[in-house]
Amino acid sequence: MSWVRLSCIFLMVFNSGIFLWAQDNRVAPGVHCGAKACSHGRIQSFLLSGSEKPRSTGHEAYELIYHRIHWHIDPAVHFIEGSVFSIFQAKQDMDTLVFDLRDNMVVDSVTGPPGALSYDHAGHKMFIYLSHTLQQGMVDSVTVYYQGAPDNTSGFGAFQVSPHQGVPLMWTLSQPYGASEWWPCKNTLGDKIDSMDIFVHTPGPFRAASNGVLVSEVTDAGVTTAHWRHRYPVVPYLVAVAVTDYAQFSDFFHISTGDSVEILNYVFPQDSAQVRQQAAQTVEVMQLFQNLFTDYPFASEKYGHAQFGWGGGMEHQTMSFMGSFSFELIAHELAHQWFGNMITLASWEDIWLNEGFATYLTGLAYEHMFNGYYWEPWKTNQIQFITSSPAGSVFCDDTTSVSRLFDARLSYSKAAMVLHMLRWKLGDTAFFNGVNHYLNDPALIHHFAATHDLVYHLEQSSGKSLDTFMDNWFFGQGYPSYNVVWYQDSPDSLVVQISQTTSHPSVSFFAMPVEIQLKGSQRDTLIRLENSSNGQVFTLKPGFMADSLLFDPNLWIVSRNNQVITGIEAPVEYNISIFPNPVKNRLHVKSEGDILAVELMAMDGKIMHKEPVNAKALSLDLQRYGPGTYLLKLFFHQGVVIRKVIRI
Ligand SMILES: [Zn+2]
Repeated sequence: MSWVRLSCIFLMVFNSGIFLWAQDNRVAPGVHCGAKACSHGRIQSFLLSGSEKPRSTGHEAYELIYHRIHWHIDPAVHFIEGSVFSIFQAKQDMDTLVFDLRDNMVVDSVTGPPGALSYDHAGHKMFIYLSHTLQQGMVDSVTVYYQGAPDNTSGFGAFQVSPHQGVPLMWTLSQPYGASEWWPCKNTLGDKIDSMDIFVHTPGPFRAASNGVLVSEVTDAGVTTAHWRHRYPVVPYLVAVAVTDYAQFSDFFHISTGDSVEILNYVFPQDSAQVRQQAAQTVEVMQLFQNLFTDYPFASEKYGHAQFGWGGGMEHQTMSFMGSFSFELIAHELAHQWFGNMITLASWEDIWLNEGFATYLTGLAYEHMFNGYYWEPWKTNQIQFITSSPAGSVFCDDTTSVSRLFDARLSYSKAAMVLHMLRWKLGDTAFFNGVNHYLNDPALIHHFAATHDLVYHLEQSSGKSLDTFMDNWFFGQGYPSYNVVWYQDSPDSLVVQISQTTSHPSVSFFAMPVEIQLKGSQRDTLIRLENSSNGQVFTLKPGFMADSLLFDPNLWIVSRNNQVITGIEAPVEYNISIFPNPVKNRLHVKSEGDILAVELMAMDGKIMHKEPVNAKALSLDLQRYGPGTYLLKLFFHQGVVIRKVIRI
């Protein structure tokens, strides 16, 4: 999902007079009762976990195999009526099937193979009592007939009706928890529906967009029925319908076998000409993602876009719903087809696996397209946004809060830059191999993944532990501010000291490789330094005299307020004499300006001595230190001067 703003939700009052549909295959209503007057007693015991708790009443008792759904939708009316036929397999002996459905929705009846089944509907759950105990491994089926005006309570408006230019338009957007606001389903992560047939019945002028392949679209007696067939596993939050007077056009791309796959676009007629040009960019992005990763995961069906009235986009499986057709939104929602749809987050805590990848793949599209023109601005914007606040972790610590779950700064931008930093830390080869092993893992494909699954594959491909990295950048909060001091006295002797402060106490030091660029009049070079401790000193042999040093010029690291202090060109105009050098015993320093403090440092970064001075001269006894090279740092109001001192 990508959201720019929350659009107004037009809640239209249901007018039952407009909504008249043939009652297909209706049977006598089952036993229905609310929570207050439940005749079974079983539901109370489930809700209260009492001693008479029935066996196998939870989601965990069964696996969904198939749904055949009929939805009757008039896009002018905030109302849905439908039937959901389900085939499921018992994972343990079970006598009750549990679905999720908001209490405001009305269940008309439930049937099984033998006929009407009794049920309860309370606590936003349906308890369907099977006619017999279903043995573990056995398969059964039920059909739920229901209707109602979805109440849109949980997220971004799961079922919305809002006209475009006066033309009726409805769409669904269930992520994260809203599917059961408009249809009875197993609204959890952990069990994908293996296969679906979706029939959408709408008034004649309208067309329905949905998941999978459009098998048929027939208008009869003023009702258009679209049959969408989806044969890939899918979670309920990615099942979607949108209905309006769609115009249609298609683009095509190729997968590695050479087969051609359709990109089907359903757009508002008045926007069709403009969207046609914008949506055409999808082909090149698709090609790029396939080159970097794997073939489009739903290639035997289609990819598609359906325009809707929400101010962002939503990656419904094989048919992203689009509030606009900006390049970034196209790339973002397409990326989700791999990251989020083919491999779905195992829990909402893992939201960064969805949104971090989708955001980063947008960045990768900028890296590889438009001659890379937007790549650096994209990274700069991400870093500025992430560091606009000193706290916050990528790890989602409150999945009950939709705004925290979809926090643009943390679950999108920082998550994306964590992937970017993993790429930098591990190197391109190990990073992209690791991600591709993740995408090719048979245990994950069309299934679910947790954060540790991605970490496992990256560690396997790189041979490096990511424990510290994840502690710092995923669970930890904030970012480093680097302080870099460098000094060069010959082409083959340049010292750099790298220190950092952190913006949040949860991380005391971000251990990261850092990149510096040395620039001379004739040459320049990029150097990678493995920065593993605070104040670490590196001795380099660039082979030329550098005029300047740039820190992290390619923007690999999330950091802010970095400082580079050039020792050789320190902003101190005073004459400074340091003698004798080399020195055996006592070292003398004289300056025209006030020396505020002095620091003597070994070449491994260890500070041997530090003291305030506040004078124009000082002397240090070096006798107690062993022979070797040291760095003498002199602090002035205007800056720092660094000199190398040889102790003999
Ligand atoms: Zn997204």
